[in-house]
Amino acid sequence: MKSLSGAEIRQSYIDFFKSKGHTFVRSASLVPGGDQTILFTNAGMVQFKDVFLGTDKRPYTRAANSQKCMRVAGKHNDLEDVGRDDTHHTFFEMLGNWSFGDYYKNEAIEWAWELLTEVWEVPSEKLWTTYFLDDKGDIPADNEAKEYWKTQKGMNPDHVLAGGRKDNFWEMAETGPCGPCSEIHIDRGPEYCDKAGVPGHVCQVNGDCKRYLELWNLVFIQYNRLNASTLEPLPAKHVDTGMGLERIVSIMQGVTSNYLTDLLSPLMKTVQTLAGHNEKQMQKNFTPYRVIADHARATTFLIADGVVPGNTGRNYITRMIIRRASRFGGKLGLNKSFLADVADSVIEQYGEAYPELVKNRKTILDNITREESRFHRTIESGMGQLEDYINDLKVKNLTRLDGERAFELYATHGLPLELTRDILQEQGLTVDEEGFKGAMDDHRIASGAGKAMGEMGGEDVSIYSSILDDLTAKAKLSLAGVLFDPYSKMNIEGEILAIVKNGLPVEEAVAGEEVEIVLPETCFYIESGGQVADRGKIVTSGDTDIFSVVDVRKPAAGIIIHIGKVEQGKIKVGDKITAKVDSARRQDIRRNHTATHLLHAELHKVIGKHALQAGSMVSPDRLRFDFNHPEAVTTEQLELIEAGVNQNILENYKLEIKERSLQDAMKEGATALFGEKYGEVVRTVVIGNQEPISFELCGGTHVAETGDIGLFLITSEGSTAAGVRRIEAVTGRAAYALVQQRTKLLKQSAALMQTSQEELPAKIELVLSESDNRKKQASLYKAKLAEYEFQKQLMNVQVKNGASVYGGLIPEVDLDTLRLLSDLFKDKYPSGAVILATVIDGKPSIVVSISDDLIKRGLNAGEIARAAAQVVGGNGGGRPNLAQAGGKDALKIDEAIATAIKIVNEKL
Ligand SMILES: [Zn+2]
Ligand SMILES: [Zn+2]
Repeated sequence: MKSLSGAEIRQSYIDFFKSKGHTFVRSASLVPGGDQTILFTNAGMVQFKDVFLGTDKRPYTRAANSQKCMRVAGKHNDLEDVGRDDTHHTFFEMLGNWSFGDYYKNEAIEWAWELLTEVWEVPSEKLWTTYFLDDKGDIPADNEAKEYWKTQKGMNPDHVLAGGRKDNFWEMAETGPCGPCSEIHIDRGPEYCDKAGVPGHVCQVNGDCKRYLELWNLVFIQYNRLNASTLEPLPAKHVDTGMGLERIVSIMQGVTSNYLTDLLSPLMKTVQTLAGHNEKQMQKNFTPYRVIADHARATTFLIADGVVPGNTGRNYITRMIIRRASRFGGKLGLNKSFLADVADSVIEQYGEAYPELVKNRKTILDNITREESRFHRTIESGMGQLEDYINDLKVKNLTRLDGERAFELYATHGLPLELTRDILQEQGLTVDEEGFKGAMDDHRIASGAGKAMGEMGGEDVSIYSSILDDLTAKAKLSLAGVLFDPYSKMNIEGEILAIVKNGLPVEEAVAGEEVEIVLPETCFYIESGGQVADRGKIVTSGDTDIFSVVDVRKPAAGIIIHIGKVEQGKIKVGDKITAKVDSARRQDIRRNHTATHLLHAELHKVIGKHALQAGSMVSPDRLRFDFNHPEAVTTEQLELIEAGVNQNILENYKLEIKERSLQDAMKEGATALFGEKYGEVVRTVVIGNQEPISFELCGGTHVAETGDIGLFLITSEGSTAAGVRRIEAVTGRAAYALVQQRTKLLKQSAALMQTSQEELPAKIELVLSESDNRKKQASLYKAKLAEYEFQKQLMNVQVKNGASVYGGLIPEVDLDTLRLLSDLFKDKYPSGAVILATVIDGKPSIVVSISDDLIKRGLNAGEIARAAAQVVGGNGGGRPNLAQAGGKDALKIDEAIATAIKIVNEKL
């Protein structure tokens, strides 16, 4: 086998497929974009799923990549095995090549074989392959793949084996794209068998010992599964292959463990240096070494993709992995933060192939170290508590720790479930994992933290709670925390109470730095009820120091942060400041919010009471409103709705906003939104005089009178989900800009058509019908011209044994014309054979026509068309008297005609 480094193997894979016309596609993020069904990208095909489903298109039809994958949660969860053996990883790389309706089995098999045996020089006699043979006998066997494999250079036909549904049939899900697959296995030799002494054991492909290893899986997607028993052939067939990088590298480098390849051995080396171990000590502690190397690599890639340690979802995984690595470090005597050093080796090792690691180096290392210190602060008390629980179990002769206690270890002492499980396992004990999840859910609901934590992307909020504790202790804040009043004023004066940078409190920030600021009070709106957060500025007196606010959030109860950047000067804790909301922007938002209420009311009037709000977005430049309605809103209805809203704007109703008890509000007929939570006291927004036209519970900001909205224009209507419609609209300044833009377009169009704006539609109709007539005329002339050209060519008709034979090229006509001309030939020469060819858009087409008497003499138009098609690299066929062919290679068109003529002449 060729001697290559891991990086070279990755690169040569990509280069090889590039040389076969593939586009190199960068690895997708570990966080799958838009795919809610999985936590992490876990295979190369994740980023192409929509292409296979036919809902997305790419500018290429052949792709190759090396995909970052995580298998640590859900169905594919390898965590428990990681560290205990040589092959399992949380993070790994998957090499793949893809055909989207382009090449198929023949090329996929030929190239896989060529790469392995010729480029990488893997001895062909060690390789085995499989093809699909249905064990249930329902789906046709993949004999194509079988034949292709058997004819590869150096392939021993006895090494091509059949396999059933388990190993050789791939399905994306219970329905959808699927198809047979072929695996390539390598025989590592009898010395790798770990079941040699087991009675009855036979080493075999897909067997149960370590002698044969699967290297590569080639999936041929050719069916669409409609239900459990029905497959329909796909119009376009695809190829999807996957090869684990770590495995092929371990094979080519001749090592017994993935951790001994040059991909991971530098990380092991770093751990060894940190631990001060000699070779023998390292061998003795191989499990902690493997855990640390694997977890450091996973953590580095996760943080580079934005998954920082946190309490929920993906962020929890990063936290858990760091803590698990940290605990295994403890087994090597590494009791201080050390993981950043290993992560640094990861960046060095992988930075060239994955530049995002280098770019985010500081963030990665900082986050790891910070998480390790958090863990160290609590680990001792947590371990002590767990020790007590273990003793308690042993005294009571129990083997399972209950979920409540496991959750308490996590919530109070920061000990993730996975660590508790590890520690218990080492003592032969288990933990109730279901009970843990239940306790966690109960806790979330009780504390009302579920949603807030989700919105913060799992960011650790303990820093904000400690800021709040600190500020209340110093009497800088009341127990209620930061005051929130976005309604009565647009500016407030105050003092900077705290500054947070990258999750840590700092004393000051200078120009260019992105930080979060805490004030005693704020007039900035926080995104809620669909209305976006305010923007604006925080300035010191005389505007010497300027901080621009781009977002405002409530990360923990009682704390509000202004997120943004120091634009000028320097801000420090204790500075006296003025916070100013961008008032023009806020006024645009107010117009859109009040217009949303008017739209909601008008929808009820025009299409019915069932049109309840299903979602809403109010931003400065537009509003978006989703509502329940089973069908598209008609143009007439939209016109009525738009007119109704504008009428209510002209009425210039005053808005009446007040707080009342929820009970009173509901009694008076307020519209509450389904799924929203309301407190005891609610804010109500009423529009209209005696008989209110809109009465909603709403915490948003509104105009004083409807006339302030100016103008309301609907810009689109469409569907977002089954039974849910969406209307988008603009108001005020954006509506005026839209009218201006449309008027300008109208003026330009009228000028281009040399008419007035009023006459424009009639003029366009006229021009269109004229152009239509011209097209008809032109194609008529073209056909005439072709016929004339053809008549001239007919001087060259040959006569052989009484039959007239002609073959020729008619430039740039369509297939219909070719058929027309061949009929013309038939009329003129009742006994004859004609082959006519043309090139349309660079693609050759051929029509073959044979008179009936010549068919009796052995001529067949279909056969001739097929032979001609082969010359131009395409397909052909048809009836014995009329057939056609198409191909790709226009340069060979003359050769194709000559081939067809030759067949005709031979038979006559
Ligand atoms: Zn064996
Ligand atoms: Zn509202």
